[in-house]
Amino acid sequence: MLDISGTIVGMNVAARRVAEVLRNRGPRTRAELIMLTGLSRPTVGGALSSLAKAGIVVEEPGTPAGGRPAAVFRLTRKAGIAVGVDIGRRHIRVAVADLGHTLLADQAIRLDLDGDDHPHHALDLAAAQVTAVLTAVGASLDEVAGIGLGIPAPLTREGRIGSPELLPAWAELSARDELMKRLDTQGVRVENDANLAALAEHTWGAGKDCDDLVYVKLATGIGAGIVLAGRLYRGSVGTAGELGHVTLDARGPVCRCGNRGCVELVAGGRVLLAQSGARDLDEMATLAAQGDPSCRRLLADAGRYLGIALGGMLNLLNPDRIIVGGFTAVDVLLEPLRLGLAETAMAAAVEAVQVRPGHLGESAGALGGVALALGVDK
Ligand SMILES: [Zn+2]
Repeated sequence: MLDISGTIVGMNVAARRVAEVLRNRGPRTRAELIMLTGLSRPTVGGALSSLAKAGIVVEEPGTPAGGRPAAVFRLTRKAGIAVGVDIGRRHIRVAVADLGHTLLADQAIRLDLDGDDHPHHALDLAAAQVTAVLTAVGASLDEVAGIGLGIPAPLTREGRIGSPELLPAWAELSARDELMKRLDTQGVRVENDANLAALAEHTWGAGKDCDDLVYVKLATGIGAGIVLAGRLYRGSVGTAGELGHVTLDARGPVCRCGNRGCVELVAGGRVLLAQSGARDLDEMATLAAQGDPSCRRLLADAGRYLGIALGGMLNLLNPDRIIVGGFTAVDVLLEPLRLGLAETAMAAAVEAVQVRPGHLGESAGALGGVALALGVDK
């Protein structure tokens, strides 16, 4: 595992600080680096010169935004590589970028066994996929500066499953330690998949220009990632954003989490598939797009229930934007979701919030893993 400070051994603290900010924030202008590091102009200038001399930083022309475009400084591939791994129930996706935030690869494989029930199998395949993707881009594990791993369960800050009953087979192990063991490396960070998708959409996607957002992931279960004041909000123990287990009906049926009437029981992928008869959510999306009335009805109802539950979050948090992803047919449920919001949230908050589909599609989780490895949350 590459330590970015290790690659610039012999350089001063200022150079390390500038490199760290470029890793966390992506390409920046000289003025931005001065502001973000709190260092003086000559100190930043000296740091950039020594980083450029070592081949770790390049200067590129900036994009014109009225007036003369300021040059931006970017970490090169020599500075290192960041890896994102997204383990789902039916897929493993691996994305690789350099520390200059340039995406090098993004590849998914299907899981033959249900990832929820077979963690060791999923982790074996994830490790093999990381090695394969690194080889495909001509990189090795020695060049990797960090790995971000996403799994579909609430996680504590220690990387343990917050509600073991939601993913019992995974509750026995530390996904982070298991992946590090398989890759014989350090520097793996683990995070809830919806939190990672929120981080990716906030850094590069539909939430790039806003600081308060809720990302909703509709898949087998329902998760949410919350970004407040530009930072991923994890909560006291790290399990914030469990939208799927917000109670809609306190006297409703018992959920797998042990409580009653959760959102997931009326809007989650499991119940949508059971009621529609579709094989998977992709098939359901296709049927809905073709106008299948029962699929459209089920998705519209799911959207409304999500909106009702999100209305509570709108009242409490008043975000700028709700971004919906994780599912290819989110368009069908956006309007019902807006109507659901209006049923439960304050009019001013409903009027202010923008409801949008995610930009990063099925890559959001793996890209969020890259974002975590880059330290965009720092
Ligand atoms: Zn529940």
